[in-house]
Amino acid sequence: MNETELMLTSILGCRRVDLYADWKPLDEFQRLHLDRMKSERQNGRPLQYVMGWTEFMGLKLCVDERVLIPRFETELLVESVLKTAEKISRQPLEILDIGSGSGNIAIALAVFLEKCQVTSVDISEEALDLARENAKISQVSHEINFIRSDIFNAFKTPNETNKFDIIVSNPPYISSQRIPHLPIEVQFEPVLALDGGVRGLFFYEQIFAQAQLFLKPDGYLFLEIGDDQRKDLEDLLKKYSCFDIIEFKKDLNERDRILILCQTRF
Ligand code: GLN
Repeated sequence: MNETELMLTSILGCRRVDLYADWKPLDEFQRLHLDRMKSERQNGRPLQYVMGWTEFMGLKLCVDERVLIPRFETELLVESVLKTAEKISRQPLEILDIGSGSGNIAIALAVFLEKCQVTSVDISEEALDLARENAKISQVSHEINFIRSDIFNAFKTPNETNKFDIIVSNPPYISSQRIPHLPIEVQFEPVLALDGGVRGLFFYEQIFAQAQLFLKPDGYLFLEIGDDQRKDLEDLLKKYSCFDIIEFKKDLNERDRILILCQTRF
């Protein structure tokens, strides 16, 4: 669909074929709505925000400036988790998602895994509001506990009852210096969801330093990474002997985008 078709299907609540098979001229309200959408696009506002929704792994999610727009690479991250989860026989699987955003990762896992309990944390209360709405729309609210937390800060000292089988995160990984130079559309997205500190590694360091405490002994850590970060992460991991690298997974452009780790087995 081209952008105008997408906007029209969104305004009219119909499918693309209906635009042509059953076309009725827009009423005044609908015309104003379309004009507003087009002018927002001209100002660089991302199409997904203009429409108010996007799709992630076939699921419809509401999105606006409170949250990052889910990306295709993050579908690869979720698919990797799903593959590993199939092999773990414990049920329900206990999963921690760091950086809820729109709720995309937590919701997709809750929808596609037979039995799981997901804890999803974000520092932004307004992102959590939208993530909770999205979980309701996908009817998985009962499987996800959304909590306000700066990474692990809201968690009590871990004990056997609050450890996870899997920790997954698509953390902010763009270096702070690059933020002002990002394309105009990306500048509409929350800087909190993008800015990964001086070298884009801040959140990986935090997660590596603490994840081990919150993982069950044979737990896994799944991370989305920037396409130029593999070497930096390999270097960083030399400091953390508690993890073994299982693999780096590539996207369709053959760039390393997903890092899978497990707790070192002694
Ligand atoms: N989980 C969300 C996503 O993957 C948000 C991630 C973030 O805020 N960095 O799109």
